[in-house]
Amino acid sequence: MQRAALAGKVAVVTASTQGIGLAIARRLARDGARVVISSRKQASVDRALGLLRAEGLGLECVSGRVCHAGKREDLAALVDETLRSHGAVDVLVSNAGVSPFAGRTLDCPEEAWDKIFEVNVKAAFLLAKLVAPHMERRGGGSIVLVGSIAGYHPMPAIGPYSVSKAALLGLTKVLARELAPANVRVNCLAPGVIRTGFSSAVWSEPAARRRLEEAIDMGRIGEPEECAGTVSFLCSPDAAYITGETIVVAGGFHCRL
Ligand code: NAP
Repeated sequence: MQRAALAGKVAVVTASTQGIGLAIARRLARDGARVVISSRKQASVDRALGLLRAEGLGLECVSGRVCHAGKREDLAALVDETLRSHGAVDVLVSNAGVSPFAGRTLDCPEEAWDKIFEVNVKAAFLLAKLVAPHMERRGGGSIVLVGSIAGYHPMPAIGPYSVSKAALLGLTKVLARELAPANVRVNCLAPGVIRTGFSSAVWSEPAARRRLEEAIDMGRIGEPEECAGTVSFLCSPDAAYITGETIVVAGGFHCRL
């Protein structure tokens, strides 16, 4: 029988109790990894664990804890506890992203700007800093940052969010280069419009959805599961020679820089 692509690997996925993060966590677990899920609320963690258990993913493959990506002590505790219970972190998926402001960029309150950069960019930096030494000691690892097509093509009304996602494109490149000697690969997933609670404002109203679908070559918005396989691939041995890349999963939405 063929060995699962991620057998023996330990994965940490942030913001993974619903939407894209949950789909990624589920897929990594199905592909053989032991996965630690997390988000801000214990109730979300419990609900997601219940869901995954009902799908047959037991305690041996999925566990979870609270972690607010904007709180450095939560990020450190997430990594510490994973190391304590599993002895390693081989895969990090930094997926947390927020967009608490809509409007003209220069009207964005400083607090909202700071929150966007704390959660979307600084958390990715802090997590990479926490896991890289352990990955290096294990002889390698894989980090995937969840960006957005907004990082390539700033979206109307979400300028600060778009700028934060553009920063992740740069963070991916710079970390990939710096960590390559340690065999730690760093890549980025740039989803298009994916059907989750986060994006519902842009597709829930039928006329807006039709306009949006006209801008997408495939004529539809994406599903969280359609992002998950790409992340699993990037973390697998099949991607052993891929680092510093951003993979767009957007159904042909035109978004290149
Ligand atoms: P979602 O379905 O709304 O899920 C958000 C998840 O993040 C939940 O599990 C939530 O749980 C958790 N969360 C929220 N704030 C958090 C924080 N500060 N710290 C830790 N966890 C937090 O969102 P999504 O659409 O899957 O988005 C996931 C990522 O994909 C984000 O980085 C987003 O920018 C990116 N993205 C999404 C789309 C899209 O169209 N959906 C497109 C491009 C990029 P709690 O409430 O318990 O914290």
